[in-house]
Amino acid sequence: MTHSEFVHLHNHTEYSLLDGACKIVDDQGKPAELLRIISHQFKMPALAITDHGNMYGAIEFYRACHEVGVKPIIGCELYVANGSRFKKEKSDRNYFHLTLLAKNNEGYKNLMKLSSLGFLEGFYHKPRVDKELLAKYSSGLIALSGCLLGEVAQSLLADNKKNALKIASEYSDIFGKENFYIELMDNGIDEQKKIIPGLLEIAKVTGLSPVATNDCHFLRKEDSFDHDVLLCIGTNSELTDENRMKFSTNQFYYRSPQEMTELFSFEPRAIKSTMEIADKVALEIKFDQILLPHYPLEKNETPDIYLEKLCQEGLKTRYLQPTAVHQERLKYELSVINKMNFASYFLIVWDFINYAKQNGIPVGPGRGSGAGSIVSYTLGITDICPIKYGLLFERFLNPDRRSMPDLDIDFADTGRERVIEYVRNKYGQRNCAQIITFGSMQARLVIRDVARVMGFTPAESNKIAKLIPFGANIFAATQSVPEIKALISSDQKIKKLFETAKKLEGLKRHTGVHAAGMIIAKEEITNYAPLAVKSEKNSENEKNIVVTSQYNDESMLALGLLKVDFLGLRTLTIIDDTIKLLKQSKEPNFSWQNVSLDDTKTFRLFHEAKTMGVFQLESRGMRDLMYKLKPTNINDIIALISLYRPGPMGAGMLDDFVSRKHGKTAVVYDHPMLEPILKDTYGIILYQEQVMRIARDVAGFSAGQADTLRKAMGKKIPDVIEKQRENFINGAKSNNITPKLGEKLFEQIMHFGGYGFNKSHAAAYGIIAYRTAYLKANYPLEYMTAVLNSEIGRSAVSNEEENKLVGYLRDAESLRIEILPPDIQASDVRFSTENGKIRFGLLAIKNVGEAACLDIISERNTNGAFKSWTILYQGLAQVL
Ligand SMILES: [Zn+2]
Ligand SMILES: [Zn+2]
Repeated sequence: MTHSEFVHLHNHTEYSLLDGACKIVDDQGKPAELLRIISHQFKMPALAITDHGNMYGAIEFYRACHEVGVKPIIGCELYVANGSRFKKEKSDRNYFHLTLLAKNNEGYKNLMKLSSLGFLEGFYHKPRVDKELLAKYSSGLIALSGCLLGEVAQSLLADNKKNALKIASEYSDIFGKENFYIELMDNGIDEQKKIIPGLLEIAKVTGLSPVATNDCHFLRKEDSFDHDVLLCIGTNSELTDENRMKFSTNQFYYRSPQEMTELFSFEPRAIKSTMEIADKVALEIKFDQILLPHYPLEKNETPDIYLEKLCQEGLKTRYLQPTAVHQERLKYELSVINKMNFASYFLIVWDFINYAKQNGIPVGPGRGSGAGSIVSYTLGITDICPIKYGLLFERFLNPDRRSMPDLDIDFADTGRERVIEYVRNKYGQRNCAQIITFGSMQARLVIRDVARVMGFTPAESNKIAKLIPFGANIFAATQSVPEIKALISSDQKIKKLFETAKKLEGLKRHTGVHAAGMIIAKEEITNYAPLAVKSEKNSENEKNIVVTSQYNDESMLALGLLKVDFLGLRTLTIIDDTIKLLKQSKEPNFSWQNVSLDDTKTFRLFHEAKTMGVFQLESRGMRDLMYKLKPTNINDIIALISLYRPGPMGAGMLDDFVSRKHGKTAVVYDHPMLEPILKDTYGIILYQEQVMRIARDVAGFSAGQADTLRKAMGKKIPDVIEKQRENFINGAKSNNITPKLGEKLFEQIMHFGGYGFNKSHAAAYGIIAYRTAYLKANYPLEYMTAVLNSEIGRSAVSNEEENKLVGYLRDAESLRIEILPPDIQASDVRFSTENGKIRFGLLAIKNVGEAACLDIISERNTNGAFKSWTILYQGLAQVL
């Protein structure tokens, strides 16, 4: 294939937040229009990404380029501080622009260092590096002298040719003569034209090569209006503002190679240089690696041996008399884990969970697919026996697909931070980072934004935005909402508003921080991914500095890095608070090990659907369902959690399930092999694990193949499913199942498997639900006190949440627990128990601060009860 003789080397994408209008991938994750045009229409052999001050899009770009057969060039338009990066004060020119491209892996690594240090050390309005850093991390990089805001260009604009030459020589010394190019641009701006002779003269004098770029910000010329609106959104201005930041021409689009060649026909070398640079680039980012940190061990130990030792010890504590089934399952799981080299992974997780437990930080019994592993269970990472609940290891770790396991861990919301701190200290602050997220322009929001920029009044823009149905995109809304159609056809300005908003919809708008995820690497994160710094306001309105990766979680996982989700779960705090109260009074030796899963009082609570305040089972719809179902065992509870979701509800599975449970619909198995698999769910396929077991037992799939089938059904990929259908029917034949019955069974798992829920997750959450119900049924006073306390201090109390507290108070009363009013002589800061009753906590009174409560109580504790009105009044004065 003949390719073009020009390559774009200076380009902005949507990751130049609110200054780049091009997506790299579309909503489906496929290469976006930009890349299709570059590859099919322009036939460019390569393309660079040089977003402003960041590398956010690098991995997405790298992979998408490979998909369309274009060589990706990873770069960045860096901000270079005018002087030292540490100097952070107002000046006329704080920074210059500089275009950097990674020539090879070393250059890529250096670019990551530079971009990270810009954020970590040089942040002042923008992430800035300086020449000291450039010199230190220059190798493997190609530098272009930059746009009009580059340092060389600025000197030429100031008519200081001598200085411009000096600066060019400086950069040439830093990067090496063959790696530094004089950048020429012509977007139709007078200043650009004015300095071209000066730039060419510098090239001639120094022997440096010129290179032509176009500083592309949007795809087509006609997109310039959209980009202009985008800039206004970013700078909070309106189109009509006189002095706003504005591109002075509409020529910052991806010009064709022909246009570029003609534009720079006066200097063909500048075009040739682009090919020369593209040819020099040889960067390979690896995606099939597993970059686990080392778990520190004694000299004579290996992770495999140590893991096995811990598991064997755990096996004895968990099962007292472990059977051959337990032993074999453990042996099998360990062999898979060792073969995949994941022993360290389990040790790392075991270690911080152990830390939490030893330090009184409640840990959940598990969540997600991790509960399907006996290794996790024996290590104490999870708290449910996978064999007892029929949970599958392969749902967690598929031996046929080597990807990092993904264990999400719940901690009590109040202790989560301490665990994270422990991990950071253990593996090194520099080896850990939180993960960035990107917020994008959503339909209603983008309508509001564009309307503001176009000069609509807030009332008008609100009215228009509200016409968009919740969850719909703009295109769908313009097709389906008659009012919008009418407005568009009658009002030119509104028509333009919708056209523009539609084009900007979905572009990245701002960065955020992943709520729970943390990356733990074996070396400094910046060896694998660049870092960014985000300052956030916390609930006390203090500034919080958070270091995040510049790549999103998907990219970080693709690179093979370890991600752990540390989730905060308020329910664990409630359980813990209840048990603390119990240990002080009724049950000094309370332990879950002595609690049976068939507690009569607990099931009575379920039958009566009195599950306000019970984990996962308190919503009205759930209580209705539970009242109808009348669960009689823990499997029913697990099923409830799995059934009460939009998919199964829409498919009418709830009523069917209830009817089968009560014997009103006969439970028939199409083949005897299905009975043991579907017995717990009365013949209904409810769990992904059941799909996997049917594939394995009936059609002879390997466990790994069964998981692949499960995945394909969830994603509904037609050709994969057709292939699986064939395999399934053929496999079933060897169990003497006719093709007709095989087909029928496959159709069944297709139909229900699509809604299938992860049983490992449901089982773990079912256990938490059961525990909260057990506490409520047996110790309502203590439990409701803890529930009420969990509601106070929740900042941003919306009306709804206020009602929640009121709802729990009412619920406590319905359990015949008396609520004593707040009393300055008796109330504690929080709700407390008092002779079988609950005393209202001072802090739960509206507008009362914690400091005032503490003052009142300390006054009472030191000087006894308030005796005179004066003291009481003083106390109250502080409260009110
Ligand atoms: Zn620039
Ligand atoms: Zn630029």
